[in-house]
Amino acid sequence: MPLSDSVAVLKGVGPKKQVALNKLGINTIEDLFNFYPFRYDDLAQKKLNEISDQEKITLKGTIASEPTLTHFGRKKSRINFKLLIEHDVVSVSFFNQPWLKKQLETGKEIAVYGTYDPIRQSLAGIKILAQNQNDFVGVYRSSKDIKANTIKDIVKIAFASYQYEIVDVLPVSLRNKYRLENAKKMIAGMHFPTSKKEADLARRTAIFDEFFKFEAGITFLKKENKVNQGIIIDYDNEKLKKFIAKLPFELTNAQKRVVNEICHDMHSSNHMNRLLQGDVGSGKTVIAAIAMYAAVTAGMQTALMAPTEILAQQHAEKLAHLFESFDVNVALLTSSSVSKVKQRKELMEHLVNGDIDIVIGTQALIQDKVEFHNLGLVVTDEQHRFGVNQRKILREKGNNPDVLAMTATPIPRTLAITTYGEMDVSIINELPKGRQPIQTHWIPKKDTGKGMEFIKNELKKGSQAYIISALIEESEMLDLQNATEVYEKTKAYFGNEFKVGLLHGKLTAEEKDNVMQDFKNGKFDILVSTTVVEVGVDVPNATVMMILDADRFGLAQLHQLRGRVGRGSKASTCILVSDPKSDYGKKRMQTMVDTNDGFVISQKDLELRGPGDVLGYKQSGLPDFRVGNPISNLNILQIAQQEAYDIINDEEFEKKQENFELIKFLNQKMVEENKFD
Ligand code: ADP
Ligand code: MG
Repeated sequence: MPLSDSVAVLKGVGPKKQVALNKLGINTIEDLFNFYPFRYDDLAQKKLNEISDQEKITLKGTIASEPTLTHFGRKKSRINFKLLIEHDVVSVSFFNQPWLKKQLETGKEIAVYGTYDPIRQSLAGIKILAQNQNDFVGVYRSSKDIKANTIKDIVKIAFASYQYEIVDVLPVSLRNKYRLENAKKMIAGMHFPTSKKEADLARRTAIFDEFFKFEAGITFLKKENKVNQGIIIDYDNEKLKKFIAKLPFELTNAQKRVVNEICHDMHSSNHMNRLLQGDVGSGKTVIAAIAMYAAVTAGMQTALMAPTEILAQQHAEKLAHLFESFDVNVALLTSSSVSKVKQRKELMEHLVNGDIDIVIGTQALIQDKVEFHNLGLVVTDEQHRFGVNQRKILREKGNNPDVLAMTATPIPRTLAITTYGEMDVSIINELPKGRQPIQTHWIPKKDTGKGMEFIKNELKKGSQAYIISALIEESEMLDLQNATEVYEKTKAYFGNEFKVGLLHGKLTAEEKDNVMQDFKNGKFDILVSTTVVEVGVDVPNATVMMILDADRFGLAQLHQLRGRVGRGSKASTCILVSDPKSDYGKKRMQTMVDTNDGFVISQKDLELRGPGDVLGYKQSGLPDFRVGNPISNLNILQIAQQEAYDIINDEEFEKKQENFELIKFLNQKMVEENKFD
């Protein structure tokens, strides 16, 4: 009777309930055990004078007046009665549950659960409790196909017959060290606690358990990865040093450290899978250039992938410049750069025979039937890590090439460890010297005109400007409508004096590229845009950005947008236009004004969101945990990581009996990871 049994084996789970459970992500008994209540209700009776306003509580007493049922319209109704609790009388109402009336009669003893209002001494009833109910109960997420109470019953049935199958993955010494419960007690405590204390204890264990298994998985994968032979890129150190010395600037200390980390990986036989994180403008491209040049000196090819054609083009220009006086063949492979079949064919031939050292393009580079002579390194820019499938494609390109992924999404280091899983992380936490920091101002909507005047002055000095239209999350169509409106107004405002362009998500990739290119070439002075402009575009002559309804954007997004200015030698300005109503909104705007540091901003962002904002975490790229919250439980996450590292990298790891279940668990996990290969 393994925990991998389908829930269908349980008494009371027929085909319909099985489907309903599956929809909630519950397929096996184990899934069911892991489907924890999302909150607990404390149904214990409290003294009336100890209840705070709007608190949810249980009252037990005697019905002291004839319950009345009143209907309003077709669907609305209210039941009213008085409940006598010792010497106090509380008026109880149930809204829109007319069927309860049958259960209520004068003189009957009942327990009602609801929201209390101490001033009126009244209770808005939620439900009537069974007399023998536990005082402390878990509440499950449910769906229209299955009720929360049904799930609870099914968990009980499953626990009764499967509790002896629950094994302890966490080694016993680890549990003792942190005073954690065993797995069986943890599951019982999560599902059927009899007190808050018991639930809290179980929860503490569950959080540790979840984080530890996650971190152990990562550590194990990394260890396996190290055993998996990658290629040795035997670069020419002398040549590399010369290249670095000839750069038009000195590398920052952070850049130097990161170059060392990358070079070490490339030179070792370990497979490199490294994430390079650095704020916008921190100088990631030059790091990539150094890594690529290293591969070239070892006689190997590199592919650089960018998310859009325009970014690919930008990289090609920058790199051509950096490699000017070095013997490196750089080629751009995009649908517009090699639009003719013959051109394309030629380029492919040069790739296969090794004439091309570095090829730059979009993701199609590794997806198409592009063949390489000896691909040693793949660099990706501003896009997410490779999925399992893409890694497979890469391996099939022959060499199991090293991978360097660049991202400007700043996640605090402590969290990066959880986000990027099996990747090693290098962070550039320092901007090149002499940058003019972007000045950020926050103005109310009524001052938008002043913002426009400011823009006009900048344009007169020969600069260019962005105006970002508000984000309308509900619909791309509204987004476009809104941008078009702003575009028309801006055109009307500037008349013939300055030219205005419009960029939005409904344009084709090629149209977008054309608009951007025109802006870059100065055909427009002002670009009105939706958020599509956020990724990586480089127009150094643009020195001012005005963001309308700035409070509709996430902080990370505002930071990305703002990073489009401040890229040249001139001082730049960002104007946030917004009238946030809440304190939270005001704090967010103030954060943007106060700092230009992407790491500080993302930390603030996560803090301000507070726990429970699942969507927020999703956007930030953090993994989904069931119980643990990577922000508020960060200390547990860090301990779990350290412990996982120590245990798995211990020389005796595979010999110690207390680790056997953990090893079994990890091997199982590896099999699951590779299932899609
Ligand atoms: P990112 O890709 O991280 O946003 P880039 O690599 O495009 O940043 O670098 C931004 C600008 O800073 C480029 O013009 C680049 O030449 C310059 N730069 C990079 N590193 C340094 C440095 N150490 N000192 C001075 N300027 C630098
Ligand atoms: Mg970049």
